[in-house]
Amino acid sequence: MNADVLIIGAGAAGLMAARELAKKGKKIIVLEAQNRIGGRIHTVYENGKPVELGAEFVHGNLPVTLALLHEAGILYTSASASTWKYDEGKFTNNEWFIDHWDLFIDKLSQLEQDTSIDDFIESQFPEDKYRELRRSVRQYVSGYDTANPKKASSFALRNEWQHEDEGAQHRVEGGYIKLLNYLANECESNGGEVKLNSVVKDIYWEPEKVSATTADGVTYHAEKIIIAIPLGMLQIETDKEGKITFHPPVKEQQEAIMQMGFGSVIKILIEFDEAFWENESVGEGKSLKDMGYLLSQEETPTWWTQYPEQSTLFTGWIGGPDAWARKDATDDEILKQALQSIANIFKLDINELQNRIKSWHIINWTTRSFTHGSYAYDTVEAPEARKTLNTPVNETLFFAGEYLYEGAAMGTVEAALTSGRDVAARIK
Ligand SMILES: Cc1cc2nc3c(=O)[nH]c(=O)nc-3n(C[C@H](O)[C@H](O)[C@H](O)COP(=O)(O)OP(=O)(O)OC[C@H]3O[C@@H](n4cnc5c(N)ncnc54)[C@H](O)[C@@H]3O)c2cc1C
Repeated sequence: MNADVLIIGAGAAGLMAARELAKKGKKIIVLEAQNRIGGRIHTVYENGKPVELGAEFVHGNLPVTLALLHEAGILYTSASASTWKYDEGKFTNNEWFIDHWDLFIDKLSQLEQDTSIDDFIESQFPEDKYRELRRSVRQYVSGYDTANPKKASSFALRNEWQHEDEGAQHRVEGGYIKLLNYLANECESNGGEVKLNSVVKDIYWEPEKVSATTADGVTYHAEKIIIAIPLGMLQIETDKEGKITFHPPVKEQQEAIMQMGFGSVIKILIEFDEAFWENESVGEGKSLKDMGYLLSQEETPTWWTQYPEQSTLFTGWIGGPDAWARKDATDDEILKQALQSIANIFKLDINELQNRIKSWHIINWTTRSFTHGSYAYDTVEAPEARKTLNTPVNETLFFAGEYLYEGAAMGTVEAALTSGRDVAARIK
């Protein structure tokens, strides 16, 4: 089967590139390994309501995402809500405040030579009085960026923190997948095809001539190919399902791939029979009714509600090295640990909590087929590696994905959409 451009992966990056190129009149075939589009955008519906197993928020007023939502006529709602902290047995509100944070940012902005964030805090803030600062920085980098602090670049985190738009958080009304359905429809209405259940195994290429063969033996031909699969899939060992082999090998690109960072995450979604956190008796007399986010030092440390929407869904998050350490844990073990964390925070009985569950999902993205991780973070070597991967190989092989985005919204849907748009612009 022939196309002008083959695209491997129907996530945000692949589908954005597909729709841009199809609109330019190119014949596009998108090959997607799974039986659904979306990749790390995975909305399921329960009682008609969207539940996001992957991406959930638009983290800020991000231009490409918001422009696309407007264009598609998809509404979004504010997800800005108060953050509570549970620490040493106490709930406190709006606690982003961390002792010595201003000094930390000040020193970080003076840093001239990039180093891992762990090295930075250890060398600049070694004293005991900074213990809490060191813990908070590590928790933030692991939790939010799902990164390993021993590998994450200080420069990249500095850039992210300087551009953070703390006020704005949005959710896509009806589910994030609506955005990707829109892109897929746009591609198809301009003559493109999206083929599901097509696991690409081998790519054979020479300048301006490429073919991709799937696990079930179908071969597709084109002049160019965009590889829009997750960084985790490019980094995994050869025996794993969905690993792509290049013929001839692309050595320089493979080295660059291995220099970049890809995080780990476990997302835990539990629907209870009622929003127990709204009950004043569990908040030590404080009303947690407006609680959006809850940070703790429990084994499942981060939680959020669907506030301001009324919902009984409580979402937990384990990121970075702690998620990696649990990559082989069973869903039941992770659920039990998550319930124990909730029980500790709200001083509830774990058996009672267990009986109040209506439904639950554990998504251990680190071991999930066709992803193998959460999203990218910058290592010290990443900027150079990204340059290599953003340079087309003989105007024939192109890479795309959230990990190839240059801006401050690292590891997001915005990053993937931007990369997809940019790679399409490089193809004449
Ligand atoms: C738990 C979680 C929560 C997140 N939360 C947010 C959030 O709130 N906000 C936000 O902006 N971002 C969030 N992100 C990040 C965001 O989801 C990603 O950055 C973005 O969706 C990545 O898009 P992509 O196109 O680069 O990759 P993907 O979406 O991963 O798409 C790649 C596609 O390639 C396919 N594929 C893989 N191997 C093959 C193969 N061999 N052959 C064919 N197809 C293949 C995969 O099946 C997949 O469909 C979250 C990510 C995770 C995991």
